[in-house]
Formats: sequence, C-alpha cells, structure tokens
Amino acid sequence: MYDYLIVGTGLFGAVSANILKKRGYKILLIDKRNHIGGNIYTKNIEGIDVHVYGAHIFHTDNDEVWKYVNQFDEFNNFINSPLANFKGELYHLPFNMNTFKKIWPNIIDEEDAKKHIEEEKEKYHVDEPKNLKEQAINLVGVSVYKKLIEGYTEKQWGRPCEDLPPFIIKRIPVRFNYDNNYFNAKYQGIPKHGYTTMIENMIKGCDIRLNYDFFEHKEELQKMAKNIIFTGKIDQYYNYKFGHLEYRSLRFETEILDVSDYQNNAVINYTDKETPFTRIIEHKYFNFVTSNKKTIITKEYPLAYSDSNEPYYPVNNDKNNELYEKYLQEAKKEKNIIFKGRLGSYKYYDMDKIILEAFDYLGVKY
Ligand code: FAD
Repeated sequence: MYDYLIVGTGLFGAVSANILKKRGYKILLIDKRNHIGGNIYTKNIEGIDVHVYGAHIFHTDNDEVWKYVNQFDEFNNFINSPLANFKGELYHLPFNMNTFKKIWPNIIDEEDAKKHIEEEKEKYHVDEPKNLKEQAINLVGVSVYKKLIEGYTEKQWGRPCEDLPPFIIKRIPVRFNYDNNYFNAKYQGIPKHGYTTMIENMIKGCDIRLNYDFFEHKEELQKMAKNIIFTGKIDQYYNYKFGHLEYRSLRFETEILDVSDYQNNAVINYTDKETPFTRIIEHKYFNFVTSNKKTIITKEYPLAYSDSNEPYYPVNNDKNNELYEKYLQEAKKEKNIIFKGRLGSYKYYDMDKIILEAFDYLGVKY
C-alpha cells in the first residue's frame, strides 16, 4: 500500500514526490510516457541536451524556488535572447531599442522611437478594440504589429488576428533600452546536466512505472494508494461528462545536422505568415556546447489539438473556463484525489509557478 499515487512524472509530480518522500511517505509515480519529466524532459543526443518538448528556460524571482531547484543540479547562466526572422530580416526580441532601430533605421534615441510608436498608435487607434489586431496596434503601432506580431500569432492560434479576442494580448512589453534579455527575472538558467537529471534527482527513492496509463489500470491503482495526486487532464478523469476542454497542440520536427552551427542563437522566431513553423531552436546553445561538430535543431509547428496529439496550451476563453469550473466543482467533492499541474489546473504555468503551486499544496513556506 502506498501513501501517495502520483499520476504524472512532470515537474509538479516530481516536486510533490520529492517533498512527500522527505516527509517519510511511500510513493508510487506513474507516467503514460516512456520517460520521466513530462514536458521538461531533455534527451542527450550526440552530447547535446535536446529539449524534446520545446525550449525550456528556467526563470524566477523567488529565492526559495531558486534555492530549491539548485539542490538537484547546478544551473548554468543561460540568458534567453531570442531573435525574430521576418522574411529574412532579423530583429531583436523582446521589443527594445535594437528592434526599433531596425524597423525605423533613422531613429537615433528613445524619444525618436517613442514618437514613431505614438504616431502610429494615434493614427490607427480604436477606442474599444474588438479583436487582437486592433488591440495590438493600439499598444505598439502598425509596423511592429505587421512584422513581428501578426504572422506569429496567427500561426500560434490557427486563426486570423481579426478573429482572435483582444484579451490574448493584454500588454506587450516594450523597452526603451538595448536590453535583449527576454525574461526580466532575478534568476535564470538551465540545469547543466539537463532537466531529466534534475527530475531523476528529485524522485530518487520513489517507485516508478513508465508506459503506465492511469486509465488502463484505474481500479488496481485506486486500491494501491491512500491518496492520489493527478496531473493528467481533469476532463478525461471525469470521462468528458461536461464536454472537452480545448487546447492548442504542437508538432516538433528535430534534425541532427553535420554542421557545427546552424543559426548562431538558441531561439529564432519566424514571424511571417508563410513559414509554417513558429520557431527554430538550436539546442547546443542552451548548454554552451561549443566543441561538437554536429548540431541539433527543432522546428516548432502549431497544431490543432485532437485526441491523437498532446495538449500543450489551454485555451482559456470564457467557454472553457466555465467548463473547467464545472470539473473543479466535481473535484472538490472528492476525498482522496487532487488535480494539479498544468492539465489538472487547466492553466499555462511557467516552471517556477508549477513549483510554487506544489509548495502551496504541500504547505511549504516561501
Ligand atoms: P507535464 O509536464 O505535462 O506533466 C504531466 C505528466 O502527466 C506528463 O508526463 C504526462 O505524460 C503524464 N500523464 C498525463 N495523463 C496521464 C495518465 N492518464 N496516466 C499517466 N500519466 C499521465 N516554462 C518555463 O518556465 N520556461 C519555459 O521556457 C517554458 N517553455 C515552454 C515551452 C512549451 C512549448 C510549453 C508547452 C511549455 C513551456 N513551459 C515553460 C511550461 C512548462 O512546460 C510547464 O510549467 C511544466 O512542464 C508543467 O509541468 P506539469 O507537471 O504540470 O505537466
């Protein structure tokens, strides 16, 4: 008999297992995939840690979270400075003076850049934006929108910006300095030995079953544990009785190339409409692998979600949030099962927020 069955070996499951194990509980972790780590899983190929489910950069402002993760691997000092490729032109991200200088080559300082943005904002301003296009133009003007937002966003969501709700873009961070560091966080980095090593170290001493789907072994599993922490899909647990929660999915296309360098940077977003992928990541840059004569790249293609692919991004519109609320009310009636993590909470969480969610649930002070 186990004290806890944890469904899912992703970050939420692993942090919970680690803390509960230290408290003396007996734990069984299961995952339907053939590996641990969930979406932060990294696989070492040709000496390069490949981020199998997309680029993962750890960043946090929280001292306790940073101290916590550093117990499981040393972190490098990777700083995310992505670029945007619009029809072959390269722009710095997030939007900053480097970006504006490329868009309006004649500007010389912050005042000039602000003037251009303000002029465009005024010219195209609408009082109450009805869609994402109007909202984005209200925030940054038409040039930045056209080159760096429109195509990328349409690919990401699979719909024209005119048909997307304005709330998707509440704010667009704009900096009037030359800082290309994407995350404004106190701490940032990537585990030196990959996220899989970090997760392995977290769940040491727990029993683990991989290729093991909860729903295929439900009755047996429910008898084996006093409590269940479920980090799979909450709507699936309830057999979709109120309906399916919607997601966006992704397809990753990874290639090993016989060149030592492909794009000179970890992440390049493709912001035009015609290129079918949204970004290319070059994995060796995440861990500063310089001596390898090969390189590994991954193209990321946004995709409609169906039962045959992975749910990556929840679509948190009113309809889905109301649906989730119904499942949550059911979950509140349960005695020995709790729904957590990105699929249990139906929410996009960065990794540090997932750790904080686990700390909250387990009463860890931070
Ligand atoms: P998951 O990692 O999804 O783990 C859930 C696990 O449960 C999975 O392994 C799944 O196989 C298993 N499972 C589900 N159902 C069952 C079942 N029925 N039976 C058995 N097992 C089951 N965050 C950052 O901080 N920085 C980033 O740069 C960043 N980049 C991202 C890029 C992409 C493309 C995406 C999609 C997310 C990114 N994130 C990033 C967010 C990060 O991935 C999440 O915070 C984190 O992975 C969530 O962990 P989790 O444990 O909740 O979920």
